[in-house]
Amino acid sequence: MTLKCHVCRGLQVGKVGSDQYYCWNCFLEFNYARGRLNLFEVGEDGVLTAVDEFPGMV
Ligand SMILES: [Zn+2]
Repeated sequence: MTLKCHVCRGLQVGKVGSDQYYCWNCFLEFNYARGRLNLFEVGEDGVLTAVDEFPGMV
């Protein structure tokens, strides 16, 4: 299965947890908790901030 970033549709997505993924292009982390996509912005200090909607999100 090829994983794509839902924001940029890029393929530079790495797995960082059991259901957690990271896009190296947008610097966004995302997971599929409870069957829905959740996006997080990753700050410089590694703190995750939930993103409800992102411009251009598929
Ligand atoms: Zn992306």
